[in-house]
Amino acid sequence: MKKILSAILSVLLIVGVAGCSSNSSQTTQDSKDSEQQETNKYAADVVVIGAGGAGMTAAITASQNGKSVIVIETLAIVGGNTSRATGGMNATETPEQQKNEFGEKNGVEKTLESALASDNPEIKELAETVKAQWDEYNADPKGYFDTVELMELDTLVGGKGINDLKLVKLLCENSAAGIEWLKTIGADLTSVGSFGGASVMRIHRPVNEEGKTVSVGSYLVPKLKEAAQANGVTFLMETHADSLLVNENNEVIGVKATQADGTEIEVEGKAVVLATGGFGANLEMVAEYDPALEGFVTTNAPGALGDGIAMATAVGAATVDMDQIQIHPTVEQGTSALITEGLRGDGAILVNAEGVRFCDEVGTRDVVSAAEIAQTGGFAWLVVDNKMVEKSAVIQGYIKSGYMVEGETFENLATAMGVDETVFATTMNDWNRCVEEKKDPQFNRTSFAEPLNEGPYYAVKIAPGIHHTMGGLSINENAEVLDASGNAIAGLFAAGEVTGGVHGANRLGGNAVCDIIVFGRLAGTSAADYAFK
Ligand code: ADP
Repeated sequence: MKKILSAILSVLLIVGVAGCSSNSSQTTQDSKDSEQQETNKYAADVVVIGAGGAGMTAAITASQNGKSVIVIETLAIVGGNTSRATGGMNATETPEQQKNEFGEKNGVEKTLESALASDNPEIKELAETVKAQWDEYNADPKGYFDTVELMELDTLVGGKGINDLKLVKLLCENSAAGIEWLKTIGADLTSVGSFGGASVMRIHRPVNEEGKTVSVGSYLVPKLKEAAQANGVTFLMETHADSLLVNENNEVIGVKATQADGTEIEVEGKAVVLATGGFGANLEMVAEYDPALEGFVTTNAPGALGDGIAMATAVGAATVDMDQIQIHPTVEQGTSALITEGLRGDGAILVNAEGVRFCDEVGTRDVVSAAEIAQTGGFAWLVVDNKMVEKSAVIQGYIKSGYMVEGETFENLATAMGVDETVFATTMNDWNRCVEEKKDPQFNRTSFAEPLNEGPYYAVKIAPGIHHTMGGLSINENAEVLDASGNAIAGLFAAGEVTGGVHGANRLGGNAVCDIIVFGRLAGTSAADYAFK
């Protein structure tokens, strides 16, 4: 009872000092409060740094656990890189998956074949478990086949086996619950599709009123923000977190920050959640950890500078896999706009400057990126047909943005792309035969969707760009940040791209949104529990 009272008092104090307004679009604090001006001090049970997907999820969860919460965000808008997420959220064993007919036999068998032969004991053991599940399913095939272990296996294979298996397990085991939790904040990811590195259809995407898939980030971010506001979370916008406040026992007790007008403030918290995202927009830091990436464009939001990593390491936090930086294979180079992997999952192909295919388009991001870099000019064309455009508001957006060239026929499109007409038409006809036969003898692609046979046809010129930083703060199963000896730093939690270990050497498309929801909820719960102590 005492704790509940103190939580209510804290909420009253913060609403008073921070002037939280539930209908404000940017939710800036009212820093003109007189008492506030004198002390420049704020306080809450839980302080979250970063208002991206992980931060807002943690904030909502901590608040729903009875805690007062302040979120500090350096930019004037919420969302971070999460706003830019186009694909969807991977989740396994969901009711949404079951609405689909199972046609991914080849995908499962291809994964099993290589995973059973792996020298990595974790991959091999998981593959054996999945093999038994697959055999059992085939004895009496009912419904859509996917399992927690198959998602773990895909994530581990995608991450080249260096992922932290216990974090991978948490990610996959809680993915379906994450989809259900999103429904409680009015977010419904109903359309399930194929995506690079997933053996089966597992990526869950939102659709608009016309049933067309839409970008997941721009769909989720306003819903997360509304839910945070509805749960009484206070946002301090345009407030840059500079360092963590630590007491004499090395317990984290708050955050030092600077507001847009230069005012320095202190935000005290019983627990602090770092959700500052990755460092993909910090090109110097990227080049420091992977010199081969110097000069690449980045798809990242401007706040992804690695601040959370710097703040946490300054109080003794350990990092993992910092040199594991993902380049995304389909980035429009003029604008650095990310062209979602969903296009390839839904049937698009890649052709090079000579007008021919050169890889399995739905391979993992690192493999497809490397294949592109090896082509003439280091770029490729991503080709779709009108059927795909009709079904996707996302592709329609790319056309409106002027990213795509167009042609009524294969030959017309080839001219617009500046590639040989005959060669390109042959490539397209060959591909459509592969789709019909569900066989790709050249590159062994196993997901085909529909043939590309309805004009007009469209293509966007793309090349790789810096996308995701897999490395980051070392955390445990409670989302506590660890020091170099593996001990939890009291009062410090982290979730999302600021952390490392979940994705290993390569993150699968759809696993970032899963990460922010699953680990955001975990960090919010752990921080709230800690704040009770
Ligand atoms: P995730 O996907 O892990 O949630 P995002 O990139 O979506 O990561 O969100 C991270 C958020 O953290 C962004 O909105 C970014 O602007 C914010 N941020 C980064 N550094 C700071 C900082 N020093 N102080 C406050 N906010 C920060």
